[in-house]
Formats: sequence, C-alpha cells, structure tokens
Amino acid sequence: DVKINKVMKRFGKTTVLQDINLTIASGQCVALVGPSGSGKTTLLRLIAGLEKVSGGTIHFGERDVTKTVPSKRGVTMLFQRPLLFPHLTIGQNIRLGMRGDARQVSEWLDRVGLPGREADFVHQLSGGEQQRASLARALASQPNFLLLDEPFSSLDLPRRRELRTLIRRLTEQQGVTTLLVTHDREEAMAMADYVYVMQAGRIIEQGRPVALSETSPFFGDGLALDGTW
Ligand code: ATP
Repeated sequence: DVKINKVMKRFGKTTVLQDINLTIASGQCVALVGPSGSGKTTLLRLIAGLEKVSGGTIHFGERDVTKTVPSKRGVTMLFQRPLLFPHLTIGQNIRLGMRGDARQVSEWLDRVGLPGREADFVHQLSGGEQQRASLARALASQPNFLLLDEPFSSLDLPRRRELRTLIRRLTEQQGVTTLLVTHDREEAMAMADYVYVMQAGRIIEQGRPVALSETSPFFGDGLALDGTW
C-alpha cells in the first residue's frame, strides 16, 4: 500500500496542502480530482519526491520514503505531454529507463499498439502515438507505482478513451499501483477504484466512483471538474 499521512506543504508562507491523508491499495488505481489550483499536482510531486513535504509522512509499504530521493522511490510519472528525447529513436527512448532485456522493447511497442516503430523518431509519431510510446517507456521501467498527471489532456476523445483502456489493462496485468490526476469525471469513473476529491489544498470527499457520483455535490452528474464548479 501507499500511505500518505497528515501531509502538509507550504511554499513560503502559503499553505497549498493541508492534512492530506490518503491510501492506495497495492495494484489499485486511485484518482485525484478537483478544480485547478486545488493542489493535485503538488501532491503528485511530493509523492514522486520532486518536492519536499513540510509535514507528515509518505510510506510505500513498510518503507518510509518521506525523505528518499526520487530515483530511489521506484516511481514513474507520465505527464500531460509526452516526454521523449527528439534526437533518439522510439526504441532508444524506451530502452533508456528499462530494466531487463533490450529485446523487450519490441514487445512493449506491440503492447501499446505501435508494432515495428522502434526506428522511428519522435516527430514521425502523432501526438497520441507519442503518448503511447511514453506509456511504453513508463511501464518498461517496471515501476511499482505509476503517477499519471492528466496524461490524456492533449488527446482527442477517442484517443483518450483508447489510451485509458490500455493503461488500465496494462497496469492491471502488471499489478502496478496507479495514481491518476484528472479534471475529467468520466475518466475517474472509468479508471479509478477509488476517488479523492480535492479543494483548496484539502481532501473534501472520498469514495468509490459510483457511490461518489450518486452522493457528491462535487462529483455528481453534470458538474464539470474543470474549475467551473
Ligand atoms: P491544475 O489542475 O491547474 O494543475 P492543481 O490542482 O494541480 O491545479 P497545483 O498545481 O498543485 O494545483 O497548485 C496548488 C497551489 O499551489 C496553487 O495555488 C499554486 O499556485 C501553488 N503552487 C504550486 N507550486 C508552487 C510553487 N513552486 N511555488 C509557489 N506556489 C506554488
């Protein structure tokens, strides 16, 4: 399990996260939703180790990783825009973070629906294909824990749905624990086992997506999670 206990974050005198308690069971997908500026990305960066907490603890299983450097946390992040090196081929990009046999590059490309594209360069792939290549790279590093920060936001709806299903299937197959930050209620409904709703640096609601969509004024039907609510 991933356990976040009483986490707090200040930037100077501004408190951006307060009393954050959150658990992700191993192999499950948890979604963090909430309006712009509510602190979702900051929380993700604390978990990845890219920022230091101002208070509280973060545990991965028995390990207290609160002060562990990012590279030792076994966490991989997938961002809004694909992060691929343009001067390398897709195959080389995937191999970079990879543990194990380089031959598995082509297997990863098959799995994300890009068979035989090893030798292509980044600019030869569409935006959706680049995001799928990024996913292959992220999963090829065999993370224990995958952090997704609006990984679909640059894609059109059919591509979003496709990639969503793909991520869900692959993370389930590999037993990867996943935290997804999203504005999109439908995305959270489709992917998450459990949802936390954030507002102004706090968790204001949590629950299973279906239950939450029935009871929550924030997660209910017809409400946009894009800051307009
Ligand atoms: P969005 O959905 O727009 O990405 P978010 O919920 O991810 O928003 P954060 O990016 O975590 O929100 O930001 C939360 C608050 O923390 C914002 O008010 C932001 O201005 C502030 N903040 C984030 N990073 C810093 C920083 N490095 N220094 C100062 N303030 C920051």
